[in-house]
Amino acid sequence: MDYYGSIEAGGTKFVCAVADETLTIIKRISLPTMSPEETLKQVFDFFDEYELKAMGVGSFGPIDVNRKSNTYGYITSTPKHGWRNVDLLGRLKERYDIPIAWTTDVNAAAYGEMHLGAGKETQSCIYLTVGTGIGGGAVVNGAVLEVFSHPEMGHITVQRYPNDKLESTCPYHDNCLEGLAAGPALEKRTGTKGQSLPSNHEVWEIEAFYLAQALLNYTLVLSPEKIILGGGVMKQQQLFPLIRESLKVQVGGYVSLPPLEEYIVGCDLGDDSGTIGCLLLAKKKEG
Ligand code: ADP
Ligand code: ZN
Repeated sequence: MDYYGSIEAGGTKFVCAVADETLTIIKRISLPTMSPEETLKQVFDFFDEYELKAMGVGSFGPIDVNRKSNTYGYITSTPKHGWRNVDLLGRLKERYDIPIAWTTDVNAAAYGEMHLGAGKETQSCIYLTVGTGIGGGAVVNGAVLEVFSHPEMGHITVQRYPNDKLESTCPYHDNCLEGLAAGPALEKRTGTKGQSLPSNHEVWEIEAFYLAQALLNYTLVLSPEKIILGGGVMKQQQLFPLIRESLKVQVGGYVSLPPLEEYIVGCDLGDDSGTIGCLLLAKKKEG
């Protein structure tokens, strides 16, 4: 039996999985992210009993995905204590002498959703997660988008909603999407966590305005076939029609888009988008 491994390396948890050649997940574990040493020990304990053919890693970032770089495979400038400049891919390769695919968590999720989830039948899609932060991944013509570096879609500059005076929650930017629209911004804006807000609260209109503005910009740059939205904040289903409505207004009739109900959609694979994406990337890397 051929086995494939997947690691979704997140800032709060590492989700590791082993799947057979049909990509059916046969074992999975979720570990709280501790120091690199402690975390890797548990990761190794999990995978050591399998003869893996290949592995796929989708990591929190920023990470180095530039194959020409000396620090390819590193987690780079993360504020996460202990994880800055950690050669995560190198440590895995040291342990397992197999092909290992390496990309961002959101690129992996985009890849998973494109092949087996909401993006099936497309070749180009964007996956955006709106949670503690905002991050986006893209698959363009079937391949994840990364060249010099990887996209940082959460930190694009946005125009403010009329009279919005919220102080950005992003320590780097006063007017970026994440700083004005991620979960912590939503909480700062209302004094209440997103999950506790009523679905008819006026803040969803503001949230939809920012997300639609970002989606318009991604559309103008990449023109994907589909945009898939996930993350805690997007559990608010009422956001979808609000975003589509705002996008329609903000496009101003300039570009033609696919029907918006098909263009702006939720995830199909739920919490498995990243894991499935990593497994697919592992299989591709091996092939
Ligand atoms: P993470 O981004 O840390 O992986 P999540 O995607 O769950 O995890 O994002 C957490 C953020 O999303 C928090 O700011 C939280 O308040 C917000 N959030 C979680 N669930 C909901 C919900 N149902 N509605 C609105 N906001 C939510
Ligand atoms: Zn920012």
